This record gives sequence, structure tokens and C-alpha cells, in this order.
Amino acid sequence: MKLTALGVWGGYPTRDAGTTSYLLQSESGFNLLLDCGSRAVTELEHELQPTQLDAVILSHYHEDHIADLGSLRQYRQLYPLGQDGWDGMMLPIYGHRENAYEFSKLTLDKVSEGHAYDVENGTKLGPFDITFIKTVHPVINYAMRISERRTGQVLVYTGDTGYFEALKDFARDADVLLADVYFFKDKSKMPNHLSSVEAGEIAKAAGVKQLILTHLPQFGDLDILLTEAREAAGNAVSTDLAIPHKKWQLL
Ligand SMILES: [Zn+2]
Ligand SMILES: [Zn+2]
Repeated sequence: MKLTALGVWGGYPTRDAGTTSYLLQSESGFNLLLDCGSRAVTELEHELQPTQLDAVILSHYHEDHIADLGSLRQYRQLYPLGQDGWDGMMLPIYGHRENAYEFSKLTLDKVSEGHAYDVENGTKLGPFDITFIKTVHPVINYAMRISERRTGQVLVYTGDTGYFEALKDFARDADVLLADVYFFKDKSKMPNHLSSVEAGEIAKAAGVKQLILTHLPQFGDLDILLTEAREAAGNAVSTDLAIPHKKWQLL
């Protein structure tokens, strides 16, 4: 699997970078977009044609995770059929159905089709098996554990979440934990996002190989955020900060 950061800020875009969006590519060439925050479409263009996306999966329906869904669909709707092999494929968009209004908006005639992921039994999506856990957040958000069937590689993406114990088991032995870290260590047990130290502690307890901090705060020194998380995670975890177009090849 290859993971590429497209948007890394929490809340709103700034300083020439957008909000949460990641491209996850399987070895077999399946292109999955994890959340679709602001600027996702133009950032995606640096990696591939947005018409080459095979599916989108959403953690929740806050604007900083879905802001570019409309633009992505316009792109595919208006792209000339036959150009660069574009066949007008409907885009599957996976989300939870616990907000009926937001879920209904995922379907757009001839352009995209909303699919509810199975939060109880997991969902097969292309080359991936994905399981889910509801997190601590003001609206319903699902963290996802994405396992590539062929290689057994595992990426755990929190979406947005405050601290809760079960996240440690959910992230157990993952190759990568991509974690929402919107707070420095002076905050803890917040109802919406993790702190640097909390993310580090979860990564350590779960025994993950790599921790990537995302959903970054617009204020404060990000080097300090990284240092705090790194100290909490310990030496056994490789701790890294997301910046746009940074890529991680899972080994
Ligand atoms: Zn968010
Ligand atoms: Zn949120």
C-alpha cells in the first residue's frame, strides 16, 4: 500500500494546503480516497487523474472531510467521455448511514453512488477488508482499519476522535496509525480530537510500527507537536508529521 497526504489541516485550509484527504493505493492499482477535504481535487491531480479514483470512503460528514466532494463529482461529470480512457464510471462513495440526510447526498445521478459501510461486520472494498469503530466526536465518526488482503498490510485511520481506550485494541499491530491530533499536550480527554501525547500513547500501547499525525492545528509549533507525540510513542514507533504530498510506502 502507498499512502499520500493530500490535505492535512483540521477544520479549515490555510497556507496553501487543504483539510483532511489521503490517497491510498494498493499494489494492484486500486485508488481509494480517504475523506475528501478542501483542495482534495487539485492536490489529487498531482498524483493521478481524478477520473482514475476507484472509490471514496468517508469517516464522517464534517465539512473539513467532505468539502471537495462536489468538486470531485463535477470533475468527473464534465470530463469528456473517451478522453484519456475515461469511461464515465460511477464513483462509489462509502459512508455511514446514521445521518440519513448526509448519506442521501452521496448519490448523484449518473455520477456517484452512496454505499453504507457495514460497521458491524466490516466491508470489502476492492483489494481491502475494512472494519470500523465508532469514535468520540460531536457527530458520528468511524475510525477504520484497512487491511490489504494480498499483503496483510494494515492502515488504521482514526477520522476525528477524542481519546478512548478501545482505540488501542482497534489499532493493534497496525503498520500505520494515521491519527487526528489537533491538540498539544496541555489538553487531554477532549470530546473531539486527540492530543499529541494521547496519540503517542495509543500508538505505543497498540504496538504500531508507524504513527502519522494529521488533522493538524493551525496555531502552535508543529515541531513541538511532533516531539510531544514522539516522546509519548517511544523509540519503537516511527512518528511522523503529515505534510501535503508526503508519501509513505508501507513495507
Ligand atoms: Zn475534522
Ligand atoms: Zn469532525
